[in-house]
Amino acid sequence: MKKLIIAGFAAALTMSTAMAEGVTEADLANDTATTTSILTNGMGRHLQRHSPLTTLNKDNIKNLLPAWAFSLGGEKQRGQEAQPIIHDGLMFVTGSYSRMYAIDVKTGKEVWQYDARLPEGILPCCDVVNRGAAIYGDKVYFGTLDARIVALDAKTGKVAWRKKLGDYKAGYSYTAAPIIVNGLVVTGNSGGEFGIVGEVQARDAETGDLVWTRPVIEGHMGTLNGNETTMTGTLNATWPGDLWKTGGGATWLGGSYDADTNTLIFGTSNPAPWNSWLRAAGKPEGTEGDNLYAASRLGIDPATGEIKWHFQTTPREGWDFDGVNEVVAYTDRTGNKRFATADRNGFFYVLNREDGKFVSATPFVKNITWAKGIDENGRPMFNEDNRPGDPSAAADGKKGETVFAVPSFLGGKNWMPMSHSPKTGNFYVPSNEWGMDIWNEPVTYKKGAAYLGSGFTIKPIFEDHIGSLKAINPDTGEIKWEYKNNAPLWAGVMTTAGGLVFTGTPEGEFLAFDDETGEKLWSFQTGSGIVGQPVTWEQDGEQYVSVMSGWGGAVPLWGGEVAKKVNYLNQGGTLWTFKLPKQLASAN
Ligand code: CA
Repeated sequence: MKKLIIAGFAAALTMSTAMAEGVTEADLANDTATTTSILTNGMGRHLQRHSPLTTLNKDNIKNLLPAWAFSLGGEKQRGQEAQPIIHDGLMFVTGSYSRMYAIDVKTGKEVWQYDARLPEGILPCCDVVNRGAAIYGDKVYFGTLDARIVALDAKTGKVAWRKKLGDYKAGYSYTAAPIIVNGLVVTGNSGGEFGIVGEVQARDAETGDLVWTRPVIEGHMGTLNGNETTMTGTLNATWPGDLWKTGGGATWLGGSYDADTNTLIFGTSNPAPWNSWLRAAGKPEGTEGDNLYAASRLGIDPATGEIKWHFQTTPREGWDFDGVNEVVAYTDRTGNKRFATADRNGFFYVLNREDGKFVSATPFVKNITWAKGIDENGRPMFNEDNRPGDPSAAADGKKGETVFAVPSFLGGKNWMPMSHSPKTGNFYVPSNEWGMDIWNEPVTYKKGAAYLGSGFTIKPIFEDHIGSLKAINPDTGEIKWEYKNNAPLWAGVMTTAGGLVFTGTPEGEFLAFDDETGEKLWSFQTGSGIVGQPVTWEQDGEQYVSVMSGWGGAVPLWGGEVAKKVNYLNQGGTLWTFKLPKQLASAN
């Protein structure tokens, strides 16, 4: 049965008080260990993206074959960044322009599709992508480019409820997969380039009713059950004047969940505007203009939305080093409970899981210019002459001194998620080696207009590559191996207990590497660039692997000289599924 469900119907709320059937909190908690389904973004809410499956391994990967491919159809292609969700015979994927599809996982045939039918005037900064759905009870959930969260009946695609996250006319949008904890659907927001205010919101998964909100910029008030709770930070402690009211800090990549400490972890984007001199006159001494809690990671109580801890990666941020990158809970080789996160700013951080306290930081890309390193408190040791100049100090007052900074504002690592393998103890980080000319300009806030006060051009820094997949020992920061790629890497990484590391390239290759040596063991050309997130699962005793193919994302839009270098790449929109046939599993 194929149905096209169209948004705009009044959402008919189910008034039944019966327990929603289907996926439970226990199912979500056991997602990594349950190899017959994929219920969470990140293959577990810790976001390790690691499968315990060993059926497919280094010896038989050469026998991995296509099982089916599904076209997203229509004229709407562009970047396909979603991770599939798999439950009860259905695969759920989201596509560009806020679409969702349910597909029969055995045949690859469409069961239903939903198109959010976006209004004119949406303001997505960085392509019309969506990074995936969430599932709970009998519903699937996803965010849309007009800043809504939509709940659909998983079996039929009918709208259960739709709620507004923010005003799309002011630059709010949403692209990350929601995270579900204890029956609450938790979302962030996008729009850090438009002077929005970053926020985390939690809703009742059954009804969509708002339970708590937590704005992430100091001075704003949180809410719980419709009442104000606590102020975020201290008003004007690290922000001058009224700038906190349009302070950015978008929580655009969503969050992770550490079950051991019962903590949600969300990252926050650049403070707004990009021109850091406009945000510089804070107090008290020593925290001048740090602009909390932008460019930070926040530990949040999932029941109340209260902030438990914060760690700021880039104080008084001035290069668009968003602090949103995923925070992965893991246990290190000596048994310490840690978080790891690879920041846009080029440093790989290890934090303590109990309180978010800094443990270590090491560079994961080469030739970083903006800081000499990270000190024992986790604070960058700035190279002051690599801060883009103050335009008000320029002769004409219009353009500050231009600097060449590494990494570029698209980051040592952008949104594309890394993987942790408990088998090797390593992290597998999709990174990029590039720089930029960047300068500051005057700017004033105007609703719905870009709020940057900066200009920039991204440039390669090496002849032979930009993309760099790295195996990193988190205990030492040592890079165990590296795979270099001509185009910037923009896809997620997955590891398996079979000793495999999967990722894809903008050139269209879906790749599997040896987790110990980095040797390329398998590749398949998917016909368009891969910027999606691979998953693996088992069905009827056979192991499957899926990934979206469809080039796009921020690089073609913002990549400057790099965008010109990769403008030959074709767009697409295909979900590829592979399997290791039973009769070839033991073959060598
Ligand atoms: Ca940003």
